[in-house]
This record gives sequence, structure tokens and C-alpha cells, in this order.
Amino acid sequence: MKNITLNDGNKMPQLGLGVWQSDNGSEVINAIHWALDAGYRHVDTARIYKNEEGVGEALKSAATPRDQVFLTTKIWNDDIRQGRAAAALDESLDRLQTDYVDLLLLHWPVDGYEAAWEALEQAREAGKVKSIGLSNFMPEHLNDILKSGSVVPAVNQIEYHPYLHQQDVADACAAQNIALTAWSPLMQGHFKDESLFSEIGEQHGKSAAQVVLRWDLQRGVITIPKSVHEGRIKENFDVFDFELSSDEMEKINALNKEHRFGPDPRDFDF
Ligand code: NAD
Repeated sequence: MKNITLNDGNKMPQLGLGVWQSDNGSEVINAIHWALDAGYRHVDTARIYKNEEGVGEALKSAATPRDQVFLTTKIWNDDIRQGRAAAALDESLDRLQTDYVDLLLLHWPVDGYEAAWEALEQAREAGKVKSIGLSNFMPEHLNDILKSGSVVPAVNQIEYHPYLHQQDVADACAAQNIALTAWSPLMQGHFKDESLFSEIGEQHGKSAAQVVLRWDLQRGVITIPKSVHEGRIKENFDVFDFELSSDEMEKINALNKEHRFGPDPRDFDF
């Protein structure tokens, strides 16, 4: 598997396991153990997923040492609004049973994000976090952080898949060497509605899901597909032994219609 070198020099595995909507118990624990067995070394959680305890349990009981797993969590909106990002991080670390996370993100651009960013910078100084970044930050929000902050974010995690490129965000990030992570890379399961993926997959002996994830990898994007099923977890990682041709990449690129399955970062109410 390939690592992406972030703008702070840290390395981030390009494919990770997303655990949104994975239950905080045997479901998330099993998913992470299957993922580590399959070769994943990157897990993406958040306080709001309410499964940080399960993620912590899974990493503690895993055969793979903690320092070989890239762990991301996120500061939830209420904590940003209330100016308690530092306290929220400490609470996440307790639940995760670890003394650091590899990547800490501000989950959404809500009021107070500049002060919260300063708290993330301090947490990085204190060694509680290796890299700091953003999620769902549009170019105008990113500009605020670039102006007020002293550390350039390492990552911006946004909704990204063949129906939604958000090229304005991708360009703004590329200009600062900020890595892009794709959330809902499998279109929350809607990749099945598009026959092109399985048609291309047939040419390579690969599934439709594998084609979509391979498209992310070849576009240089970090991707965090979610599944709690052993077979799918393995399948989603088995994407490093084939290559989409430029013609196939173009056909997938052409599906873009700026369609969101999730909330719009410029218009949300949570
Ligand atoms: P996803 O796009 O990864 O789709 C997951 C769904 O696709 C599964 O529930 C399952 O129905 C299906 N699926 C997965 N693998 C499959 C396979 N091999 N074959 C057939 N079907 C398969 O959805 P997601 O969970 O929304 O996004 C992935 C991760 O991104 C989340 O778990 C979370 O970690 C992160 N995320 C972040 C934000 C954010 O605001 N930062 C928002 C949403 C998600």
C-alpha cells in the first residue's frame, strides 16, 4: 500500500477504514481486526460516531502495534462552538485509550473554527497529535485558517466520489500542498447504481467497488471506505494490483455531476 507524505512530513496510508455508523462494540472491533489482518493501517473515526471506545478496544487488543496504525479522529461542532477543542481532544484520547492520535480534524466549519485551530496547533506542540487538519472546509473557510493560523493544515477531508469532484476545494488544497481525503468514497453504497464501474471491473477481474476506490488512488486522493463485513473489508483493500487505463479514468471522470449524498458545507444546520 502507498503512503501519502503530508506537508508536515508525516506519512499517511492512502487507504483506510471508515467507521461511521459502525456500532461501538463487537461490530467496530471486528471490523478493525479484519481490516488490520487484511493489511489496512489507517482507521478514521470521530467523536460524533460514538464508537471511539470500540476503536480503542480494537487497537489495544490487535496484533498490530498501535504505532503502526494511523488513527484519525475529529472535533465535533458543539465543541468547536463552545471553545472546548482541547478538552474534547483529551476526552477522545481517553476513549481511544491512547496518548496521541495521528491526525485530528475540525469536523465542520462552524463558528469558532479559528480559535479551535489554535487549540489544535497547541495540541500538536504538546505531542497529543501528530498532524492536524480540517474536514468539510470550503476555500473561503480554508482561507480564514491560512490567515489566522500558523500551521498549514495537513489534510482536508471532504465528500468526494465520481459524482462529486469539488474541484474548487481540490485546487485550493493543492495550492497549499494539503492532502485530500475522500469521505463517502463509495457514494454511501450508490456506486451500485452506475453500471460503468462493473463494466470496467469486468475488464480487470475486479468489482465495481474496487474500480471506484482505484479511481481515488490514481487521482492521488486518500480514501476511507466503510464496511463492517469481512469479505467487503478485504475486497476494498484488494486494489493495489491493477491499474485503470487513462481511457477508463476519463470515462469515470465524465460521470461528475457535483451531486452530494451528504450535507453541503455551505448550508447545514448541525
Ligand atoms: P462509503 O461511501 O464508504 O459507503 C459505505 C457503504 O457502501 C457501506 O455501508 C455498504 O453499504 C457499501 N459497501 C462498502 N463496501 C462495499 C463493497 N465492497 N461492496 C458492496 N457494497 C459495499 O460511506 P461512508 O461511511 O459515508 O464514508 C466512509 C467514511 O468516511 C465514514 O465511515 C467516515 O469515516 C468518513 N466520513 C466522514 C465525514 C465527514 O464529515 N468528515 C462524513 C461522512 C463519512
